[in-house]
Amino acid sequence: MDVRAILANYDNFKAQQLKNRFLKHNDVVSLLEKLPSTFEVQKLGNSFEGKRINAVKWGKGKIKILLWSQMHGDEATGTMALFDLFNFLQRDTALAQQCQLYIIPLLNPDGAERFTRRNAQQIDINRDFLQCLTPEAQILKAYRNKINPDFCFTLHDQITLWSVTGSLKPATLSFLSPAIDHQLSTNPIREKAMLVIADMFETLSPIIPGCIGLFDDEYEPRAFGDNFQKLGTSTILIEAGGLKKDPEKQEIRKFYFAAMLKGIMSIATKSYLKKNTSHYFAIPKNNKQIFHILIHGLVMDGIKTSIGINYDEYPTHDGMRTEKIYSIQDIGDLSFCDAYETFSSSNFISNGVIIFNQNAHFELFDESEMILCFQNGKLF
Ligand SMILES: [Zn+2]
Repeated sequence: MDVRAILANYDNFKAQQLKNRFLKHNDVVSLLEKLPSTFEVQKLGNSFEGKRINAVKWGKGKIKILLWSQMHGDEATGTMALFDLFNFLQRDTALAQQCQLYIIPLLNPDGAERFTRRNAQQIDINRDFLQCLTPEAQILKAYRNKINPDFCFTLHDQITLWSVTGSLKPATLSFLSPAIDHQLSTNPIREKAMLVIADMFETLSPIIPGCIGLFDDEYEPRAFGDNFQKLGTSTILIEAGGLKKDPEKQEIRKFYFAAMLKGIMSIATKSYLKKNTSHYFAIPKNNKQIFHILIHGLVMDGIKTSIGINYDEYPTHDGMRTEKIYSIQDIGDLSFCDAYETFSSSNFISNGVIIFNQNAHFELFDESEMILCFQNGKLF
């Protein structure tokens, strides 16, 4: 199976019911109810606010793979891609003979309800492995112990300001084989995940060239990925980042699906064994050289300079959208940077005060034409 050919048919198995990042527990439950009987849906427990957390088991093969999505409630790309995967798997028989998938879509339904990272107790589930104070962490830990999978995938979204070293493009996807100690040691378990990632990178990189980076590999003793890796399950982290003109991540979701599928195929067919760890370490690292908005050629205090503007997203009360608040994040020589949107002129002038680290509150003019208008951080 060729991933590029599969992607060409993506619209045939895309879970059309999921349209944006603000999916809720009800959306997930109604899709799970429609799955055919080759998918075994099982209740694992309840979230803090009593929402049922489900797992889906599929396949009869020997290799066990655990995947979970949205342990951070505002990181929905993995969940959307998992439902695309469920649709795809209904056409597949080969993978079913090679592996067993154990999948928890939407581990943090209370967070998803509010579109927040944390659960209803305001705790970050991915910093709760050791104390296990949240029911969601308890559920995930117990499920892994019960299955004892060979591999797992921890599915996340990262902030859209990560870029890829060398390409200056947004890191649309990032991968990581999480560390097992502060020294970033490797062992055969961690190395196996590195080889799978190298295999994923080789396939995905020509599809989105320059848009895949290695996520920061600092050891986090409270995180699930680091601990599962330590416990003997080779762990692969996937992060969805940004892509120009795709704020709702519907294009990214497609590549995310492809990355996940390639990872599963690599494990199932053992194609990762043809890789070595140098392929993994050759993947460019993430850095922060992009802005949401970059303005070149603005005349300020008698000099011509550049300014970089980023937004933070705040969920609305109903958790169904976010409000973006823009602030000035850099002023000066930004010639080595890029952005989702770049505005250049020989003579931009502004009406208002531009202050570093404060909310954007100005109008940008090219000659007499208004290009941008910010008021108290909001873009109009
Ligand atoms: Zn996350």
